[in-house]
Amino acid sequence: MPEPVHVIGSLMVDRVLRVATLPRAGETVTARSATILPGGKGANQAVAAARCGARVRMLGRTGADGRFIVDELLRAGIDASAVTTDDRMSGSAAVMVDDHGMNAIVIAPEANTRLTETAIDAFLDGAAPGGILLVQNECSGLAHAVANATRHGLRVWLNAAPMDDRVRAVDLSLVDCLLVNETEAMALASNDEPHAAFRQLCDAWPQLDLVLTLGAAGWIARVDGVVLRGAALSVQVIDTVGCGDAFVGALSALRSEGMAWPDALARANAAGAIAATISGAIPSIPSREAIEALVRSLGAGSPTT
Ligand code: ADP
Repeated sequence: MPEPVHVIGSLMVDRVLRVATLPRAGETVTARSATILPGGKGANQAVAAARCGARVRMLGRTGADGRFIVDELLRAGIDASAVTTDDRMSGSAAVMVDDHGMNAIVIAPEANTRLTETAIDAFLDGAAPGGILLVQNECSGLAHAVANATRHGLRVWLNAAPMDDRVRAVDLSLVDCLLVNETEAMALASNDEPHAAFRQLCDAWPQLDLVLTLGAAGWIARVDGVVLRGAALSVQVIDTVGCGDAFVGALSALRSEGMAWPDALARANAAGAIAATISGAIPSIPSREAIEALVRSLGAGSPTT
């Protein structure tokens, strides 16, 4: 019986502005287009886990302007009954993308910082032992959630994104699986070379399963004490927004159903690749069928040790 994935994470209103060139300080530019999309690493990863076939519960907080994000969770079949809405601002991200695909992003976490320890405790009380608790670093209460999850018999998965002192405040001895991209690995290890940072984190935390995503260079992981690596799949890249979230969400879903690490990592890699072929975060997150089809078509099932 697959175990559920419990996500405590962010919901963000993403305002995406397409511009010819990013504005400099003091400059005003006119956008070619503006779109409002559901987002936030918590919501993205919850949707990715659900589309990959997991039973997903989510805890988060949004303002009145963020109800449409909750609707997106419900459409993906996620139990969002613990997501509360207040009458203040939702978390939001102003994302400017220029004609070369360069971006500049301002995040205003707002409602995500109003997630209370009481709400976290109530959410954990509703989790049967054995599932995965998946957390990122865009909400208040991160260290509290991690510290209490193990008491509930949950396996803690920490995606250390974005990487800052609130991640450093987490007791990593309570974490089962740490997932980082290159920037986060380098910041966490204080090392400016990602592979060296990975080895340093492996040495510092021998009990951890550790997954480092490397963008177009694929991924490397130390899982059950064994180092595995895989190249990124060759796809027509449109925009890499949401690749990491697709990877992390899919991997949590596949491990929660008991899939072996090498097979689960190959499929997470396929999920990340598919996300790169479609614009946006949630719109680009693939279904399980799409992931399996890509793995079959590219014979991408066997990572190397
Ligand atoms: P993040 O979005 O958190 O920065 P990465 O950029 O490391 O994460 O990407 C996560 C995963 O998505 C990669 O490990 C890979 O599986 C996939 N991916 C990212 N960029 C590409 C790409 N250009 N081509 C194919 N797969 C990609």
